[in-house]
Amino acid sequence: MRIAIVGGGASGLAAAWLLDAAHEIHVFEQSATLGGHVRTVGGNVPCETLPPGTRLDAGVIEFDRAHFPGFHAWMRALGVAVTPLRGAGSSTLFLADGRHLHAPTALAAEHPRLMERLSAATHLVPSLLRLRRFRRETAGIDALGAGTAERFLSDDDFSVWVRCLLMYAYSMHYDEVRSLSGALAIPMLRAFIHSNEWTHIPGGVSTYVDAVARQLRAQIHVHTRVAAIHRADGGVRIGLTDTSNTCFDAVILAVPPHRVLPLLADADEAERSWFSAHRGGTVQTVLHTDNGMYTRRGIHAPSEFDLFALPGGGHGYNAYLNRLAGLPDPGTVSYHLGFDLDAEIDPAAVIHRQDHDVAAYTDLAMRSRSDIVAHNGRRNTWHVGAWLEDGLHEGAVRSALAVSERLGGRPLPGFTPE
Ligand SMILES: Cc1cc2nc3c(=O)[nH]c(=O)nc-3n(C[C@H](O)[C@H](O)[C@H](O)COP(=O)(O)OP(=O)(O)OC[C@H]3O[C@@H](n4cnc5c(N)ncnc54)[C@H](O)[C@@H]3O)c2cc1C
Repeated sequence: MRIAIVGGGASGLAAAWLLDAAHEIHVFEQSATLGGHVRTVGGNVPCETLPPGTRLDAGVIEFDRAHFPGFHAWMRALGVAVTPLRGAGSSTLFLADGRHLHAPTALAAEHPRLMERLSAATHLVPSLLRLRRFRRETAGIDALGAGTAERFLSDDDFSVWVRCLLMYAYSMHYDEVRSLSGALAIPMLRAFIHSNEWTHIPGGVSTYVDAVARQLRAQIHVHTRVAAIHRADGGVRIGLTDTSNTCFDAVILAVPPHRVLPLLADADEAERSWFSAHRGGTVQTVLHTDNGMYTRRGIHAPSEFDLFALPGGGHGYNAYLNRLAGLPDPGTVSYHLGFDLDAEIDPAAVIHRQDHDVAAYTDLAMRSRSDIVAHNGRRNTWHVGAWLEDGLHEGAVRSALAVSERLGGRPLPGFTPE
């Protein structure tokens, strides 16, 4: 078959790699580079101000070993090295009233003296008790019917912590977390709150995108935006923005869900009902070298990622890239990735600002996922994307694998989806 894949992010590339030997594949990507949210500055994103050879991820960064088996199997098959993160799982919540709550993994780094550590740990007790209650209340829940995660949260420190984690995990503004789908949020929280098995890709996450691009025989069309998709006569016509048209036997849409409906020129009633509730927008991550948010708070050791409730209102996160990117830690320069923390970052310390087109994974929008999966392939139109599964990289790979299996693609050695 001749198959068009619209979108060269993780899910589109995984689908292309899996189907490459069995079909004639064309990947259409609107940006100049492949990868979607995979943005390595000094890698697939050029940057003249970074020292030569320094590569910093401004997009996807870390992967849990236990909960990303499909992703890790794909990296093994690609021959891409994945290594454990030093100090994985460490995090501190900085509250607006000046208190700091260090997760157990961050306590030792910030308080080497036993008595200080014990004293800091006592502040954690109410949140740890709330965590136990949260785990009890969400155990065995049918997540698909859960609405939002809000029904398990309130206004206590634990709830602020959980909302900040969700902000971090799904790159959404803090205020939007309240409408986030519980079907996404609850399994993710239950799986990851205690996970210390985080890994990263040395040299940045775009290393794997380069490996995929080298191995594909598919035709890759970057800088090529698909404008319209028509289904007719048992095939699919792909209209490009330069007004040219190309015909295919099938199309795989690997774009965020809020981008689907505007592309379907002949959407029928079912497609309109599945996709009309999906919304999205642009968020920005900021690569910077400013330690001020820590020194102002008397903190010596930034964690893997830290969560901030700001005194003037607003919430954001900061990820310490020396640790996440495997650079010297501490190094002569501290590299950070900030999100919604502009009030805390000296503009002169900003290296790069990266926009990301993200879907709002609201409860309302995500209710149609099971229908979309059940009817995948209808009208020669297939859907892949992280949003169909966990919203993360594992979901991107699994969604591609599910479609590839039905279209006769190759398996992923060492991985069998349950
Ligand atoms: C800042 C940030 C940090 C993250 N950190 C992590 C992390 O640490 N671990 C993790 O597992 N996940 C992380 N994620 C989530 C992860 O990045 C995504 O789940 C995954 O990359 C999504 O891949 P995708 O293929 O589904 O979609 P996308 O990456 O959104 O790819 C869609 C592609 O489609 C293209 N496109 C859209 N419309 C068109 C069109 N009309 N024509 C042609 N091309 C089009 C886009 O340009 C894009 O390249 C992070 C996300 C962000 C934003």
